[in-house]
Amino acid sequence: MAYRVRFVEPDKHYLNLKEEIDAAIVDCLSKGDLIMRRHLREFEEHLAAFVGTRYAVGVNSGFHALHLSLIAAGIGPGDEVIVPAHTFVASVSAIVLVGAKPVLVDVAEDYNMDLDAVERALTPRTRAVMPVHLNGRVCNMERLLALAREHNLLIIEDAAQALGATFKGKRAGSFGLTGCFSFYPFKVLGAFGDAGALTTDDEEIAIKARRLRYNGEDRETGEYHFHGFTCLLDNVQAAVLDVKLRHLPRWLERRRQVADMYRQGLTGVGDLRLPHFADDNYYDIYQNYVVRTKRRDELVAYLQEQGVEVLVHWRKPMWAHVGLGLGPHNLPETEAICREVLSLPMNAEIDDESVEIVIETVRRFYSG
Ligand SMILES: *Cc1c(COP(=O)(O)O)cnc(C)c1O
Repeated sequence: MAYRVRFVEPDKHYLNLKEEIDAAIVDCLSKGDLIMRRHLREFEEHLAAFVGTRYAVGVNSGFHALHLSLIAAGIGPGDEVIVPAHTFVASVSAIVLVGAKPVLVDVAEDYNMDLDAVERALTPRTRAVMPVHLNGRVCNMERLLALAREHNLLIIEDAAQALGATFKGKRAGSFGLTGCFSFYPFKVLGAFGDAGALTTDDEEIAIKARRLRYNGEDRETGEYHFHGFTCLLDNVQAAVLDVKLRHLPRWLERRRQVADMYRQGLTGVGDLRLPHFADDNYYDIYQNYVVRTKRRDELVAYLQEQGVEVLVHWRKPMWAHVGLGLGPHNLPETEAICREVLSLPMNAEIDDESVEIVIETVRRFYSG
């Protein structure tokens, strides 16, 4: 159907930047700069500066940023890694695929991992915690870092949804041993396909990740240091991302403005719970604008029928997918979220009129 308001508008997004993006791509193609060239190095420098770390290493997905981080940190069989149950499957797959055991914990009201649950989940085998800064809001890293110091744990941040979000003025991806980002097209900074990066202050981790992404090879000496992968960030994608990174702060401000319009238009409407969690320590960037209601399925059907495109992120808990082999769990908040959440249209291109249409349509559902 033709939506009146689309969830995202990748065509509009491209056309707004067409000249700059086309020029960057033509620059790569006409020079034959395809693999590990200047554009990749420059994007990595700019990304590290933006996040506030010494290094950034471009890879071909958020998944591989997580996967290489865990390998570089030496996490493997016999180790437990605590991770929130309410996250994208890739967070957990990365842990499983290094041979470690993911220990799923429940989340709190702001959709981020419940730190009391993290404390309860600690065992002598716990090697690391993977906070996931979900929907563009950073976890309480002060408390998590204190816990990590006390119990000698590594922190691998899944910051795939939180590029540019801050906690006490520090950006997501700058707290842990590594920060892991995804540039999947519909993340706040999106490539034209899969892409990702990890950030770190640790030189050894950066070197190891650079080798892991390129078959274990040291590009200067030609020495293979171990068996690695082929999961480099393409130079052309890096060139595009470098252009877009310059616009990111403005886009994040626009997302916050849209979130504020939703807050003003939808506060107190029906049983809706909005994703605004008063606390001056956080700068949320609204990768997703997630609302909660007991009438979720009805509201989703109504909005779709009225031409407003919405999404539901994860209709059943990860452990209910038996093929993942995660076993049974009893995590009531994660289960309730699966029944109650939907995401409203949110992107930097959406105009005020479209936001008003969404607000009016939601209000009509409840009044009518
Ligand atoms: C998108 C995402 C990832 C994985 O990113 P890909 O680039 O798709 O591999 C990991 N974790 C979270 C929370 C994500 O949203």
